[in-house]
Amino acid sequence: MYSPIAALVLTATDNNTSWQVITLCVVAALAILVIIGNASEGELKRNKPEHVAFVKTHSTLYKNLRELNGRQKFHEISWDTLITYPLSKFCDTYAQYNRTSTSDLFQEFIELNIAKLGEMVRLIKKNIILNTVYIKEYKMLLSSPFVKKNDKGKLVYGEGYQEFSKTMKPKKFLEIEGYLYKKGQLDPSVVLAITCEVRYISPAGRNSYENKRTYNLENLETWLDIVVRNVKNRSERQNKISHERARVTNSVRYNILKRDGHSCKICGSTASDGVKLHVDHVVPVSKGGTSDNYNLQTLCDRCNSGKSNKFDGERIGDIDFDDLEEFLESGDLEDLV
Ligand SMILES: [Zn+2]
Repeated sequence: MYSPIAALVLTATDNNTSWQVITLCVVAALAILVIIGNASEGELKRNKPEHVAFVKTHSTLYKNLRELNGRQKFHEISWDTLITYPLSKFCDTYAQYNRTSTSDLFQEFIELNIAKLGEMVRLIKKNIILNTVYIKEYKMLLSSPFVKKNDKGKLVYGEGYQEFSKTMKPKKFLEIEGYLYKKGQLDPSVVLAITCEVRYISPAGRNSYENKRTYNLENLETWLDIVVRNVKNRSERQNKISHERARVTNSVRYNILKRDGHSCKICGSTASDGVKLHVDHVVPVSKGGTSDNYNLQTLCDRCNSGKSNKFDGERIGDIDFDDLEEFLESGDLEDLV
């Protein structure tokens, strides 16, 4: 059973400068991603709409900010394509609780989304770099001289703008301009917080256990590396296993049966005893065994099923090395490699 979800996001800024809308719906993932404008709508709403409109029309700072925002090329990050994985797990037993770690959940989530998360991390990091440049330029906009202090320390409109004082006081102008400036700042930063939790509540409800961990961007990056490596190793191992299995051709089988005198290397049964003979890997391929002759043996179906995939470090059954040598000398090797 899995707990429900908390997920959300919102997006930025001024109507005029809105540049992206991000919605997150990582079902069952406790992820919080935030993009926010820096000033509340409320601060602006306390002012008369005609004053706000006036500032929007006449503020050089505001005009420059819009121009700056229009030039930004922040990357849009799409979270809703992630394959979901329950990051919050309720265990049925205490033993299962002990076996399950938060990092297991996190790894499986990553493994399902390797490519997408990799791309996401890349874009977030690009945005971080773009944003440092943006913030520098954003701060430089403040040198705009539309309203300034005169010799007596009084706020006045700049050269050529004196007529505005009839419409709004410079102080009010400055205040609204300040709100617009704060509100208009783009912030592509993404606070990435993926929380994994494992829980167990004892049947009577007397004890409850919880193991919780939150991963940030840096953690995600580290784990991505680990998971990518694991997946690669696993697939290499899988390829090797398939390769070794494919090496046991009919011709190899025939040669091994012949080498083993058409009898089981464990119990000595032959086809005339009513058993079926198989060629078997002494060390299973899943445990690193190869399909070289010395690792192949004839077993009957009874002994083979008893042996299963277990390998305890000793060979099961004897290999007759005299036969093997004779076989090798016969030169019937072309099918073996
Ligand atoms: Zn046997």
